[in-house]
Amino acid sequence: MLTIDGSFGEGGGQVLRSSLALSLVTGNPFRIVDIRRRRSRPGLRKQHLTAVGAAAAVGGATVTEVEVGSLELTFAPRLTAGGNYTFSIGTAGSTTLVLQTILPALMLAPEASTVILEGGTHNPQSPTFEFLERAYLPLVRRMGPNVSATLERPGFYPAGGGRMVVSIKPNPTLRPLNLLDRGPIREHRAKASVANLPRHIAEREIETLLRKLRWDRSCFAIEELTDVDGPGNVVIVELIAEHVTEVFAGFGQKGVPAEAVARHLGAEVKEYLRADVPVGRYLGDQLVLLNAVAGGGTFRTLSPTTHLTTQLAVIREFLGFEVGLTEERAGAWLVEVPTGAARVES
Ligand code: ATP
Repeated sequence: MLTIDGSFGEGGGQVLRSSLALSLVTGNPFRIVDIRRRRSRPGLRKQHLTAVGAAAAVGGATVTEVEVGSLELTFAPRLTAGGNYTFSIGTAGSTTLVLQTILPALMLAPEASTVILEGGTHNPQSPTFEFLERAYLPLVRRMGPNVSATLERPGFYPAGGGRMVVSIKPNPTLRPLNLLDRGPIREHRAKASVANLPRHIAEREIETLLRKLRWDRSCFAIEELTDVDGPGNVVIVELIAEHVTEVFAGFGQKGVPAEAVARHLGAEVKEYLRADVPVGRYLGDQLVLLNAVAGGGTFRTLSPTTHLTTQLAVIREFLGFEVGLTEERAGAWLVEVPTGAARVES
């Protein structure tokens, strides 16, 4: 049986989630040791535990007994079944990351699915709901499956309490995605949201972003969220280009001035704009997994992150091929899944 070293590369939750995702689509069991060994609190946290439970549920898998803090597990899937599922993390752990663990398998399943996820929907260092809905899922749809997500209630760290509903109409023949050029930017906008926090935080973020990006004032909005557990503040920037939409997020944090949150976010947006590549820093590691499952596809992205290189290593372990990673010029890289690369069972 394949043994995965959970401490390699990023050494975080991604090694586990991607292993679960690829185990489900290939039917190959695996053992993982040293889960999240490089994190300050190693082992499974609630988000990862929920991802394991979700993968086991959709794949009819046998899993060794695990709990928060577990450093290893063995996972043996049987057959993926679509259907109605609810997965509740119970903390502010990221619902989007739990979804991405089971999505490749459900996209290929014989039946349609509706998945309800409860927990965090707007977490730092995870895809936000807006990123999922506007950047990631449109690309999934281009590959064939019809997947859409609705946000019923936002959930911020640390209170959680968010909820989203995802509808998945599978397509057993995934089309590899080729995304080499961004095309002209057609629209850009930014929104600062506050929940149970003063409006001036959002106003200061927008003023800072406005100075940094120099877009027309009509491109900026402020939203005061109600019916949200605990405080929360997120600024979302959306760039809609001809061939791709990218979404960037900045999160308010205690002790960090609103201006600093917006400046950092503005710098990230400008770096992406300057690089003139379609796929941003985070979309890259998420997209390459989908292309690996589809058995082909090429995209251009920014300099590889450790999340991207770690993803390539997990792909090599499960699917047995090398994804090409070539620097074309400073800050622009080509990520190529070899055409006809091992196609997975569906
Ligand atoms: P830990 O590192 O504590 O184990 P984790 O399980 O939450 O944490 P990681 O292994 O760090 O997660 O993986 C985070 C994932 O979230 C990566 O796929 C990364 O691309 C994605 N991500 C992080 N920030 C953003 C963002 N702003 N927008 C979209 N995706 C993001």
